[in-house]
Amino acid sequence: MREILIRNAEAVVTMDDTRQELASADILVRGGVIAAVGHALHAPNAEVIEASNCVVSPGLVNTHHHLYQTLTRAVPGGQDALLFGWLQRLYPIWSRFGPEEFFVSTQVGLAELLLSGCTTTSDHLYLYPNGSRLEDTIHAANEMGMRFHPTRGAMSIGVSKGGLPPDALVEDEKSILEDMIRVVDAFHDPSEGAMIRVGLAPCSPFSVSRDLMRDAAVLARDKGVMLHTHLAENDEDIAYSLAQFGVRPGQYAEDLGWTGNDVWHAHCVKLNGQEIDLFARSGTGVAHCPCSNCRLGSGIAPVRAMRNVGVKVGLGVDGSASNDAGNLMAETRQTMLLQRVSLGADAMGAREALEIATRGGADVLGRGDCGRLEVGKRADLAIWDISGIEAAGSWDPVAALVFCGPMKARHVLVEGRPVVIDGQVVTIDLPKVIERQNILARRLRD
Ligand SMILES: [Zn+2]
Repeated sequence: MREILIRNAEAVVTMDDTRQELASADILVRGGVIAAVGHALHAPNAEVIEASNCVVSPGLVNTHHHLYQTLTRAVPGGQDALLFGWLQRLYPIWSRFGPEEFFVSTQVGLAELLLSGCTTTSDHLYLYPNGSRLEDTIHAANEMGMRFHPTRGAMSIGVSKGGLPPDALVEDEKSILEDMIRVVDAFHDPSEGAMIRVGLAPCSPFSVSRDLMRDAAVLARDKGVMLHTHLAENDEDIAYSLAQFGVRPGQYAEDLGWTGNDVWHAHCVKLNGQEIDLFARSGTGVAHCPCSNCRLGSGIAPVRAMRNVGVKVGLGVDGSASNDAGNLMAETRQTMLLQRVSLGADAMGAREALEIATRGGADVLGRGDCGRLEVGKRADLAIWDISGIEAAGSWDPVAALVFCGPMKARHVLVEGRPVVIDGQVVTIDLPKVIERQNILARRLRD
């Protein structure tokens, strides 16, 4: 079995149950798991990665993304719009996508995440124009060696029925449920160490019916998969919920079976105290997307209040049309800064932000086997070189990752396999993929 010894790291941030940090430490990886963490480890047959001047952290976990949107970054007309106007600008462009657009844009998005130290990502794909399928993205992740939690999203209420998306981008609810069953049966792997886990994810309360929300929850429980959607993103979202359903989003979610350990909601910027308690009580997770919330002017999510009562919180870069970057370490920094904007400089420290980005995200996705550097856990980790310009002069290498960043990961291992080496993705020909992506973007623009 392949062995890799990461040797002499300046600091190893384990994110284990005691949040132990080790100085001048080694990590031994055997196959896909961590075999040892400690000092002066002996492994004569292992490949060696020298990590002096480096911090080693668990791989970051991204809990919310729309990878296909890397093809629509910085679109004029969508740059300065609020959420609903932004969507209306982009829907007609997305309706021209096909399988190749989804495959290539996913590769670009995954590569961008890997370079920022991310080893596991979920994806929320809720439109399937021109013969596209969820597996267009799964094939891209498999090829790159990234741990992937794709979700089969959906929209069913088009403009003619009072919804937001154009009718051409919505599907009928019977076909949606059939395809959900198909992709779970074909691709979902419930086992420990799984590289692919599929979730079910109607897009949002304003683009599907109550029936589909309820049916998807029943199906997810039947199949043992997780549920994901957008919730309480901004004031318009709350107003829509009150006007259409007569209840706030928390009540709406609870009524339809959308709370529990197997559910996580993106954004939750506007949850009130009662809803935060509901999430804590029920084990419902939150994907906090600070840059997207800033970009769309949605507000500051009450992450401090959520964490204080035990809500599971992870981070998400959100789609690349509303960020427009996919750098998860940048989100980690933004998470810390944004809580400070509303609550003061002691509202959140660098280590807590890093915990949310790693262990926190893994727990939101139901991956207790990831997000910590402990014997027996999956060997998903990032090695950060802190000898460069970003952290020069810093006094605390671990805090520097968040305060001084974002920096690029030097090496990234997923399931014990090096996928980023010396700051380069080694599993695909990235310059070629970027070239193809730019050709596709030009074609969509013309
Ligand atoms: Zn989103």
